[in-house]
Amino acid sequence: MDDEQRAWYRSEGLMRYAVSADEQGSVAEDERPPVIALGPHDNDFIWAPAPEAQGYPGKSLRDMTLDEYNIFIYRWLEAAVRAGDVRCAHCGRLILDDYQDLPDPDTWDAILIEKELVAWMVVHFDCKKPLPKKLKGMHPFELAPRDPPTYDLSEVRLPPEEQPAAETGH
Ligand SMILES: [Zn+2]
Repeated sequence: MDDEQRAWYRSEGLMRYAVSADEQGSVAEDERPPVIALGPHDNDFIWAPAPEAQGYPGKSLRDMTLDEYNIFIYRWLEAAVRAGDVRCAHCGRLILDDYQDLPDPDTWDAILIEKELVAWMVVHFDCKKPLPKKLKGMHPFELAPRDPPTYDLSEVRLPPEEQPAAETGH
């Protein structure tokens, strides 16, 4: 994760901080960027990806609003689900692709948690309710997220307002 990505998380309020002081009284501040849960266990966490590294055709992170970044993360999660890489953050069952036609117990949603932990998670509809109990006391400084896998998002269709502007002149 580069400095620009960290700076963007700071400016959007997605960074979390911990301050520690040693016996000599020197104070250190540590920060943790947002994460994504690809499953129910502590070792299922990865760092949130940057759009540039995923071939995303939209804006670069620097120019994104939080809403636009959310859209990118959702497109990324859909690619992760298609690849069979995502399990429910609550029950651990594999998240199935093609959510249009899934039977009710398999329908799922991606959600953004902004508590002590800032995390995107994929859960079944029925697993949303018990999730807060699991999240209580989860602390970003106790996790050791991995780097995110890369999916090719170059074919993603952007919402109309995010289409690159047409060339003008001549
Ligand atoms: Zn579930």
